[in-house]
Amino acid sequence: MNKGLYLDVAIINANVITVDKRMTRVEAVGITGDKIAAIGSSSGIQSMVGSRTKVIDAKGRTVLPGMHDSHMHPLLVGHFANGVQLGEVKNIPEFLERVKEKSKVIPKGQMVLGFGWNQERMDEGRYPTRWEVDTVAPDHPVFLIHWNAHIYLVNTMLMKQKGITGDTPDPPGGTIEKDERGEPTGILLENAINLVAPGFLETGAGLFTFEQSKAALKYCADRAVEWGLTSIVDILAGDAQVKAYQELESECKLPVRVNFYLGYQYLDNVVNIGLESGFGDCKVRFAGAKMIVDGSLSSHTAALREPYVDVPGTRGVMRVTRKEIKDFVLKATKNRVRVDVHALGDGAIETVVEVFKEVLKEHPTKDPRLKISHCIIHGKDLIADFKKLNIIANVQPVFIMKGQNWIPKFVGPEREKYGHAYKSLLDAGVHMCSGTDAPIETMNPFMNVYAVSVRKDPNGIPRDGWHPEQKIPVDQALRMVTIEGAYATGEEDVKGSIEIGKYADMVIVSDDPLEIPPDDLKNIKVLMTMVGGKVVHQKDF
Ligand SMILES: [Zn+2]
Repeated sequence: MNKGLYLDVAIINANVITVDKRMTRVEAVGITGDKIAAIGSSSGIQSMVGSRTKVIDAKGRTVLPGMHDSHMHPLLVGHFANGVQLGEVKNIPEFLERVKEKSKVIPKGQMVLGFGWNQERMDEGRYPTRWEVDTVAPDHPVFLIHWNAHIYLVNTMLMKQKGITGDTPDPPGGTIEKDERGEPTGILLENAINLVAPGFLETGAGLFTFEQSKAALKYCADRAVEWGLTSIVDILAGDAQVKAYQELESECKLPVRVNFYLGYQYLDNVVNIGLESGFGDCKVRFAGAKMIVDGSLSSHTAALREPYVDVPGTRGVMRVTRKEIKDFVLKATKNRVRVDVHALGDGAIETVVEVFKEVLKEHPTKDPRLKISHCIIHGKDLIADFKKLNIIANVQPVFIMKGQNWIPKFVGPEREKYGHAYKSLLDAGVHMCSGTDAPIETMNPFMNVYAVSVRKDPNGIPRDGWHPEQKIPVDQALRMVTIEGAYATGEEDVKGSIEIGKYADMVIVSDDPLEIPPDDLKNIKVLMTMVGGKVVHQKDF
């Protein structure tokens, strides 16, 4: 310990789980500036308290490193919070009622955005149609996004504005659903979103102004620190986000650290100006580039090696060609831009892994930190490749909650064993970080810790967990939302654990995650969040 040093902040009488290599526990943490200067006993830290030191008495509460979310969509979190909330609706009349309510408070002609609907949760068990939406909102363009964000419903006004008719051909990798008369029903799948809102999922392009997008990001950043997140990854950013994050930070309105990945269509620009992963500062940082390779499981568009069991004619959808993936990964890697590739199905994962192998052979790279987001349906061979190439699995354990219901139906008993097979990945020594994919799921990081440790839905079903052999220990789950999140963006030396010299990013929480019954992990409350030694959120403490 550093004699003669006076701390700016001292946290004492705490149960500090440092999440260092040995999961050491200490009583107190001392901070100078934005870094951790000392850890140890309360008396030791108190000896460095001066007249200007802010002393936080944790009263025995648990202190953890700040939480990381390695895959989320902050812009959509903000926009959706302002839109029609369709997540809980139970039938089509209720769905329409909500759209009607929202359209009443939005001036005619302006966009009504909605999010979260799921036909499987609705009594009718089918997609609503544009004609139904027209009955409640004929004078607004209406754009309603399925909870999985791969299916979209538009009304007639928006369809007309965008020139979509029965004669419009399906775009590559997308489908305009038509009825038996050949009329578009209003349902658009996958890349067909580009006919209505190209780039929307990246930039909010075409639907919202820059100021609205900036406000949406601010909304998300404020909620993030309430959930105990000190670092978030914007996994698919575009120009609107880059500018907005910079402005928010320069106006001192960004409480959380943000790493962003630009969509792959930006790669040429990135390379032309010489931008490399890691550029930026400890608050806003360019992490790399992102490509989406397949779709989603719930819409049968995740690309599988063998056909879906319940729809034998399909093996899912590859949204880009193998050559496009190769060109992207090679160009990025050659130019020191790290990649994160979205691949859910074993077919898509296999292709990406093969491409990674080829790229590393052609262009040997030290520590490329290649990442694959989602990795839902795996295989033994693929897990071995992850370890061999040190591919980081950027996983979303919260998806187990719904996935446990459809994965058995979709892939059958053999392949089901490789659904969300986190223990297998862990045992193979694969690095795994975790994200919530918010707004697809809540951004509460403890839901990920819960889901990966117990493999149940929020109601505790099934009682023993889905494929309980794949549960991972809580201490490992905690590492996924802290130090492994830092590792994924190459920042494990500066954050992710409570160790001297690292950023003072910490949370004080209601319970000790390693002591409470795992079923209670989802109920852990965040009482205080600190980023760089500054308290950015405090509640009931
Ligand atoms: Zn995502």
